[in-house]
Amino acid sequence: MIYLNIYVQCSERIIYVEIYVGDILQMKKSHVCKSNTMKVLRVGADFRLECEKCGHIFMIARSKCEKNIKSVIHKEK
Ligand SMILES: [Zn+2]
Repeated sequence: MIYLNIYVQCSERIIYVEIYVGDILQMKKSHVCKSNTMKVLRVGADFRLECEKCGHIFMIARSKCEKNIKSVIHKEK
């Protein structure tokens, strides 16, 4: 899967975004290293994300990830 459409709650509004592999997600909750930007490595039922600062890679359920996204920064095409 190359991209996924998801709904994100963004300051009182629900917005519909496309998340592509390689995009950067700005999360509401920060990682333990204090960074809140994560690179998308895989999308699907689970997302595989890489912390931009410390490089930690982890899996997160899509529903959990949706709730935690603040904004999406699309990679340059
Ligand atoms: Zn980190």
